[in-house]
Amino acid sequence: MATRIPLERIRNIGISAHIDSGKTTLTERVLFYTGRIHAIHEVRGKDGVGAKMDSMDLEREKGITIQSAATYCVWRGSKAHLDDHNINIIDTPGHVDFTIEVERALRVLDGAILVLDSGKGVQSQSITVDKQMKRYNVPRIAFVNKMDNPGANYARVAEMLKEKLGHHPVKLQVPIGAEDKFQGVIDPIVGKAYFFDGEDGERVREEEVPAEFAEETKAARQEIIEKVADVDDQLAEKFLAEEPISVEELRAAIRRATLALKMTPVMCGSAFRNKGVQLLLDGIVYYLPNPKEVVNQGHDQDKGEEKVVLESDPTKPFVGLAFKLQQDKYGQLTYFRVYQGSVSTGDTIYNISNEKRKVRVPRMFRMHSDDREEIQIAEAGDIVAFYGVEASSGETFTDGKVSITMTSMHVPAAVISLAVRPKDRNSEANFSKALNRFTKEDPTFRVHQDEESQETIISGMGELHLDIYMERMRREYNCDVVAGKPQVAYRETITQRSEIAYTHKKQTGGSGQYAKIGGFMEPLPPDAVETYEFIDEIVGGAIPREFIPACDKGFREGMKKGSLIGFPVVGVRCTINDGAAHAVDSSEQAFKTAALMGFREAYMGAKPTILEPIMKVEVEAPSEFQGSVVGQINQRRGAILDTVSGETVTITAEVPLNTMFGYSTDLRSATQGKGQYTMEFSRYAPVPRQEQEEMIKKYKEQLAKEAAARK
Ligand code: GDP
Repeated sequence: MATRIPLERIRNIGISAHIDSGKTTLTERVLFYTGRIHAIHEVRGKDGVGAKMDSMDLEREKGITIQSAATYCVWRGSKAHLDDHNINIIDTPGHVDFTIEVERALRVLDGAILVLDSGKGVQSQSITVDKQMKRYNVPRIAFVNKMDNPGANYARVAEMLKEKLGHHPVKLQVPIGAEDKFQGVIDPIVGKAYFFDGEDGERVREEEVPAEFAEETKAARQEIIEKVADVDDQLAEKFLAEEPISVEELRAAIRRATLALKMTPVMCGSAFRNKGVQLLLDGIVYYLPNPKEVVNQGHDQDKGEEKVVLESDPTKPFVGLAFKLQQDKYGQLTYFRVYQGSVSTGDTIYNISNEKRKVRVPRMFRMHSDDREEIQIAEAGDIVAFYGVEASSGETFTDGKVSITMTSMHVPAAVISLAVRPKDRNSEANFSKALNRFTKEDPTFRVHQDEESQETIISGMGELHLDIYMERMRREYNCDVVAGKPQVAYRETITQRSEIAYTHKKQTGGSGQYAKIGGFMEPLPPDAVETYEFIDEIVGGAIPREFIPACDKGFREGMKKGSLIGFPVVGVRCTINDGAAHAVDSSEQAFKTAALMGFREAYMGAKPTILEPIMKVEVEAPSEFQGSVVGQINQRRGAILDTVSGETVTITAEVPLNTMFGYSTDLRSATQGKGQYTMEFSRYAPVPRQEQEEMIKKYKEQLAKEAAARK
């Protein structure tokens, strides 16, 4: 076995991008230059092979990367000037409907490359992903790709990082030419020019800076120093003292500032034309953190969830997070990030997230897309795949000496749902198996049985999200699915405080039922993380202790279904402060019923309102269609947030999801097929009054019809 690379020489990074910016192309070049693959294929499988990272058929067809896989490669520097560095690439999916995959990937990576299109700059998905990265404190390098494309503008994209994302961008390079004259890249820090020779740009040629770029290079170095000095005291001191600054000092300052999330290094190139990728790899080594430089926190379950800092130290007790499941031709692979300690094949580990269930680690691999390399031991900082370990994504395992779980991940609410059933009764078993598996893999994909209609309802983050799973059922589970009309996931909430006072009394023959409760409900603050809160303010035993949980349960039952249109209620705090019990007739059931009935009564007094998901929509079309695009958005109750026009116009708007069905067809016909759009969930907002009234009326009619049918 090869000797282990020390932690300082490991980088766990993600590559994220707005769709079509060149993430797949760039990733494949990275694998090629690091020697992990031996030939470059075109994305979208034009030559029938397909880029290495898109391992699923469906992805290959759609040309988008859906599932994150972890890939391992070794980098020795563009001029073979570095010690071996181990780079693990967590492939973060590009499509916004799959944000949970992005989130999970972000949880396990230490740094990231933000790929931007040299012409389009910061686009909607870049903004979403960047927000998530900020939340997880992930330092990033921006890579301005497609420098060979018409309209390429490195400086403008860097400027957009500041305007749209609030970064402190620092341009670390000077492109040699642009568009069809893009030839290579200058590194002003060392003051050299780089060209990429050979059929696949594999030979990096270092040259003196061409004379016509000498001035620009000098100015660029000065700008780097000044901008970094703005956010790094150590460099600022030297700069102000007008002392000479060495290459090493400058790089160290950039590294410090980047790790502290005080600046974003901006680099450039063309993945497709094989230019600049090796320098980006150097940049990953120079400027992105190794696992030791990142603070990871877990929750100690033995100490009431107390936060503990995990140490990237192989001698400490093992802690690892399962962040990804993947079915491959050999069976189930579970991707792990080791946060602390080490784990070897044959070890017994415990699933802390699931009743400390015990499992043995039969085999362990380093993954390279579909290929794999068996290893015997994994240590803190490593990303590996276990074979034959039963787990769900997001579960934490330890060696049993500690009971630590990694922080729970932020799971966004589902915005759309769909009734589904297998077309063929014989495929029912596969239908259940598939749903079971998908929910394990993806917490934003949910399945439930509708109590009244007995239908199976799937819900998720958008139409495409659900489409992909139905398609996977057909392909992977041989199960055709019949789907109903997509349903928007409405919510109900309250807008004012309302008193709860209810007495449940029943006398039927033998023992009766008695429970009395008093309290109030009120809206939770808008920024509350939880959708429901229960507060017990009972003093002096007005309600006996053993019945308090039953009150909570009754309220929760009430939250499941609002009285306006039967959708779940969110944003409510219920407090109980009074009540009464009967020595014989009171029971858990009686208190649960009293709470539920009390909730329903008080609910109508709390001015309930209906909420709907509002989506952020970004439309791009040739400028001559601007009028029709805006018209269509207005028609759909949309609000325009931003318009950027040039040859093409990019319109950002907020639009209710409910009005977005059929939009792709409408947009196509209004723009002669030239318009494109992306959409992602933004927030919940109240439905306009008049529409609410119609919805409530419809719901009442439906209830009446159902009641009549039962008679
Ligand atoms: P992804 O959706 O971000 O993974 O993007 P892809 O890697 O699939 O690339 C989208 C399209 O842009 C493909 O047709 C690529 O060939 C093309 N592309 C990628 N990188 C470059 C580049 O540097 N220059 C040019 N001109 N095209 C590129």
